[in-house]
Amino acid sequence: MSAAYDITDHTYDVLVIGAGGAGLRATLGMTGAGLKTACLTKVFPTRSHTVAAQGGIGASLGNMAEDSWQWHMYDTVKGSDWLGDQDAIEYMCREAVPAVHELENFGVPFSRNEEGKIYQRPFGGHMRDFGAAPVERACAAADRTGHAILHTLYQQCLKHDAEFFVEFIVIDLIMDADGTCRGAIAWNLDDGSIHRFQAHTTVLATGGYGRAYFSCTSAHTCTGDGNGMAARAGLPLQDHEFVQFHPTGIFGSGCLITEGARGEGGYLTNSAGERFMERYAPTAKDLASRDVVSRAMTIEIREGRGVGADEDHIHLHLEHLGRDLLLERLPGITETAKIFAGVDASREPIPVLPTVHYNMGGIPTNHHGEVLRPTESEPDAVSPGLMAIGECASASVHGANRLGTNSLLDIVVFGRAAAIRASELIKPGAAHKPLPADSADQALGRFDKLRHAEGQLATAEIRLELQRAMQRDAAVFRTQSSLEEGRRKVDDIAQAISQVKVSDRSMVWNSDLVETLELENLLACAQATVHSAVAREESRGAHAHEDFPDRDDETWMKHSLAWIDDKGKVTLGYRPVHTWTLTDEVDYIEPKERVY
Ligand SMILES: Cc1cc2nc3c(=O)[nH]c(=O)nc-3n(C[C@H](O)[C@H](O)[C@H](O)COP(=O)(O)OP(=O)(O)OC[C@H]3O[C@@H](n4cnc5c(N)ncnc54)[C@H](O)[C@@H]3O)c2cc1C
Repeated sequence: MSAAYDITDHTYDVLVIGAGGAGLRATLGMTGAGLKTACLTKVFPTRSHTVAAQGGIGASLGNMAEDSWQWHMYDTVKGSDWLGDQDAIEYMCREAVPAVHELENFGVPFSRNEEGKIYQRPFGGHMRDFGAAPVERACAAADRTGHAILHTLYQQCLKHDAEFFVEFIVIDLIMDADGTCRGAIAWNLDDGSIHRFQAHTTVLATGGYGRAYFSCTSAHTCTGDGNGMAARAGLPLQDHEFVQFHPTGIFGSGCLITEGARGEGGYLTNSAGERFMERYAPTAKDLASRDVVSRAMTIEIREGRGVGADEDHIHLHLEHLGRDLLLERLPGITETAKIFAGVDASREPIPVLPTVHYNMGGIPTNHHGEVLRPTESEPDAVSPGLMAIGECASASVHGANRLGTNSLLDIVVFGRAAAIRASELIKPGAAHKPLPADSADQALGRFDKLRHAEGQLATAEIRLELQRAMQRDAAVFRTQSSLEEGRRKVDDIAQAISQVKVSDRSMVWNSDLVETLELENLLACAQATVHSAVAREESRGAHAHEDFPDRDDETWMKHSLAWIDDKGKVTLGYRPVHTWTLTDEVDYIEPKERVY
């Protein structure tokens, strides 16, 4: 099959797939350690979704008020509804402070407090004294923190002569018969050529799969490509049932209004003008965890207290903060509100609705970024030659619900951890074993089949059906019947890919084919989501199951695993949550009821 395509070969010590915050931080660290590193990305690095992150990156710097990484760890474990792995969470929260100082030294233009230190604002679920009261922990560059971080990391990579392959879309991983990853096959969109990259370690840093839903805050490129590649390589996807709805997407467009808006003093009201969050979360109020606020908003709307002609959304008030503060601290969202809701945020409330925002689940890894290939007897067995970091991975630091600001943190901490691990495992320039003769066959076979697909269904039609089914049946609240309906529909839609029609056969800038490759990845992500969700008969974090409203630690304090075979059949399994910490400086945080 591969004979039909000319292949250009490359060998590197390390291959990084993705140039968002996670991929760039890993590329920088690996290049810095003397490893010959290639970074492949389907969009220009600074167009990765990280650029859209607004509110901040979490670290207990204590610049505004007393804070500690142990409190940050406590909040993250509680935020995860005790599904996060506490060893990984300890690592992330401890490393947060040096990681943010490192970003400052790299040149990230953080906003400043009156003392000239990095400005920090409150964010949902970030508290002092083990949950006592909100604390300012989100380090912010106005409301354009992701933009500042991504551009700085890219400049640092250029300074270190990292090698980029831009607008290269990776089709699939190359796996040995023994399950070792040996590199990947990519298609250069610009000239239509096919490339085979061989590497000692391949790092997936491909971001989330928000586009499996109809309304999301994520970029159109967030199609779960890495998750799809991992699934096709026989690896399981972990905890996909946990999908975060952000409370404040703009009603209609889904564009994000950062939680930092509530951090600066914004609040939500219903049609009676009531600040209803005081009823649901008496201590944290509007700054409760995202799953809590999204559910409260949904209940208000369901019970007839929504705003607008159809009583189908909620108001976010920033008017009382004044124009000067909005322009200094929240200029981006002030502009977004104007463009996408036609609202002057300094004079009137912004119409908002919970919108899909983040995927807690992903490719299972340990806290070094190494991908796991769990078996019953060895739940933490490592899959050789493969790493995953950032939103495509599940380390698992976010468990059943991520706290705002912990993802920008996750991408820099685990991007760095992956680089450290790779430099321990690989000697720069070490010889490569020859690849098996058929190493490109599977990837190019799939590529060629889709390129010549002559069915009756347009890619966009199948995708829209998928997005509608996910939006309706795997939503903020779920019931057994809605989830079973969702599973049936998503499985049917996954089969419909065999009837897809790709009209463009060209090899150069063929967006029809790109979107079809992406659709296959979205389908794998969606199948893992609905299958894992149907099975989990409890409510935990973002998985709010109306037929099983309580958390059930005895049966369900475990990670879901979903394997998807090449016929689209899903098999589920589980692995235990890590109930230990890395050092004895902190104790294991015992599960208890989660109230804010
Ligand atoms: C609007 C918005 C605001 C947010 N605000 C915050 C915030 O304030 N604080 C916070 O902590 N988190 C925030 N988040 C979440 C956070 O920004 C993301 O989770 C994080 O940036 C993801 O980074 P990443 O490096 O994993 O992936 P991304 O930044 O999504 O990058 C993915 C990369 O993979 C590449 N790629 C994907 N597939 C392929 C393929 N097949 N071949 C080649 N390359 C590929 C892409 O080109 C891209 O370079 C926000 C998210 C959104 C959507």
